[in-house]
Amino acid sequence: MAESRDSIADIWGPRTPYHRAWPTRADERTVETPDRWVQSACVLCSNGCGLDIAVKDGKIVGVRGRSEDRVNHGRLGPKGLHGWEANNSSDRLKVPLIRRGNRFIEASWDGAMNLIVSQSKNIRDRHTSSAIGFYTSGQLFLEEYYTLAVIGKAGLGTPHMDGNTRLCTATAAAALKESFGTDGQPGSYTDLDTTDAIFDVGHNMAEQQTVLWTRVLDRLAGPRRPKLVIMDPRPIPAAKEADVHLAPKPGTNVVVLNGLLRLIIQNGWISRAYIDAHTMGFEDLERTVAKWTPELVERIADVPQRKLHAAAEILGTAPTIVSAVLQGVYQSMQATAAACQVNNLHLIRGLIGRDGCGVYQMNGQPTAQNARECGADGDLPGFRNWSNPTHIEELARLWNVSRDIIPHWAPPTHAMQIFRYCEQGSIKMLWISATNPAVSLPNLPRIRRILDQEDLFLVVQDAFMTETAARADVVLPAAIWGEKTGCFTNVDRTVHLSHQAVEPPGEARSDFDIFLDYARLMDFRDKDGAALIKWRTPEEAFEAWKVCSKGRPCDYSGMTYAKLTGGSGIQWPCNEQFPDGATHLYTDGVYNTDPQYCETYGHDLDTGAQLTPQQYRAHNPTGRAIIKAADYIPPFEEPDKVYPLWLTTGRVVYHFHTRTKTGRVQALEDKAPEAFIEISKADALAYNIQNGDAIEARSRRGYVVAPAKITDIRQGLLFIPFHYGYWDDNSHPRAANEVTREDWDPVSKQPHYKLSAVCIRKV
Ligand code: SF4
Repeated sequence: MAESRDSIADIWGPRTPYHRAWPTRADERTVETPDRWVQSACVLCSNGCGLDIAVKDGKIVGVRGRSEDRVNHGRLGPKGLHGWEANNSSDRLKVPLIRRGNRFIEASWDGAMNLIVSQSKNIRDRHTSSAIGFYTSGQLFLEEYYTLAVIGKAGLGTPHMDGNTRLCTATAAAALKESFGTDGQPGSYTDLDTTDAIFDVGHNMAEQQTVLWTRVLDRLAGPRRPKLVIMDPRPIPAAKEADVHLAPKPGTNVVVLNGLLRLIIQNGWISRAYIDAHTMGFEDLERTVAKWTPELVERIADVPQRKLHAAAEILGTAPTIVSAVLQGVYQSMQATAAACQVNNLHLIRGLIGRDGCGVYQMNGQPTAQNARECGADGDLPGFRNWSNPTHIEELARLWNVSRDIIPHWAPPTHAMQIFRYCEQGSIKMLWISATNPAVSLPNLPRIRRILDQEDLFLVVQDAFMTETAARADVVLPAAIWGEKTGCFTNVDRTVHLSHQAVEPPGEARSDFDIFLDYARLMDFRDKDGAALIKWRTPEEAFEAWKVCSKGRPCDYSGMTYAKLTGGSGIQWPCNEQFPDGATHLYTDGVYNTDPQYCETYGHDLDTGAQLTPQQYRAHNPTGRAIIKAADYIPPFEEPDKVYPLWLTTGRVVYHFHTRTKTGRVQALEDKAPEAFIEISKADALAYNIQNGDAIEARSRRGYVVAPAKITDIRQGLLFIPFHYGYWDDNSHPRAANEVTREDWDPVSKQPHYKLSAVCIRKV
């Protein structure tokens, strides 16, 4: 038994101050002495920390950080050090279940899969494959996503595939595509080691990517301390360390970002040479931001002018900047438009594609990057372009299928639309893997009605009886991390191979094996009559994926399972040109915007209208980054007399997603056992609310009851963590999404979780 530090009490651990080379700090927690260690990485946030799994007598008994890994240099956070305990939870699903009326009966795998296959065939024959939808996760492995993508796109040919990545990273992908031509983070975590300034926008890094924040804390404590600008309406832990904390009113991100860009342009803190050589659209940006004076920004966003000036000076004069963006932008008004303004900051200053100059359009879910790359979420594999016939032909050739079966006649269906089609009855079978929409989607009263519809055949594969699985017609018990082999990729393009450490419980199977079985039973064939899915093992799937990715931005062709074993994770692209992976993209200032190469022809940021190939070519962006401007659009719902307060949602440090795993880990659960409603001192006074009082927050959709937590959050704004559902406590409405809105960003289609108008009362 070993515990190198108490990560529950001291989340980020002791400081190792530095500049340039981040020292190692080996974090470890085991509850028994292991017989062996198995290489893996953490899947409890998108940071992707390298770790080894401790195994004793066929059971996981702990983890230790991998000091040689480029992502974490040995460090692990509280979720990483404790989260593995969920694998050993006694309530794991162990056998397939089939619904009979109001209860489940145990079934054999043959029985469950035959039922799914007969329903699939029946629905496909009667209603076409467009009556079948898939909703997946940010938790599966690359090999599983790719297999699912080929089944959906070349086996069935359904356009209705998405993942919960739509809720957390769709805007990251959209903003990267709009600005740079394709998905893929330009920077690297190593940029934090040398950067002069950090701009963290709507990103509670200290509680979400705790190890990344540890890296920042170590820089802040070391020589050549970088300046820190935080933009977030809440008093998040990072705000305490900030040189400037901008706390805008909900829904005004574009206002503040335009105000910052205006000051930077006006003060001449831009790189004319870079703008002229490598970008297009600057004049439009200059025109659009011109009206956003500090006075106007203060009036609309309630950000004091002196703070805006101070932030602009840091971001305008620092020789290098790292920016990180997450849900405070992605789940708010004008998500893609705001995220693009952060890209614009780097483009107009020429701070991209070199050390110290990273743009992290962050991911929330650990393996979200792979869902996007492999095409399990609505994108096409290898960041290919739905609107480019050449890209469709490439996939048809690769899979040896007719191009006509690959759905490309319209944009892929996004998650909220998939659920709408289920509601309307045109999707008759929905297969949900490793995610929990009955807690994580907005406007839960409606989502529950949809999932409970009699004429929807609902398949759920998961490790636990989640709130969603409880509504299924068939439940398939899934193996999880540590019980299967496969790769996943983090925010800065680092690919880790996670080896199987232990056997799954009972009859649980990996998602990979379940999808292979489905493909075999459905008898999906290629044009020559051979099996469509030609791989049998995760490693064979990885080799097939390498072929699909070759020549595309996410090129894995230089990686092998052997190369990914024994050392650090490796960044893509990894190929003949970059045999050890590439730290930065766009080092030469040439972007992926060539019309034949780009992943999208772009959108109008206000309306989401797609640009045609002709419109795109007319602007001739080839090789240049696209600076896209956006003016402010007010939120669709704002506080009024009946619902006078804003409500925003987010995370706490001890939990992940809907607590399916972390809620089953005693140490994490003990620290954060219950939802709460964060409220400002002024509002608490006005409503006569004390800390701990039970209060009800009610919107036009539903209501939540939780204890009050009085903090320095801005007046007029409430916060509820979104992790809490009902599997362990259904005594009262406590899921934040009982009240949230289901409208979405016009480009990324990411729902507006951060913007609900509510009223409150003591109960
Ligand atoms: S920072 Fe994220 S990936 Fe790293 S240990 Fe914590 S939860 Fe796991």
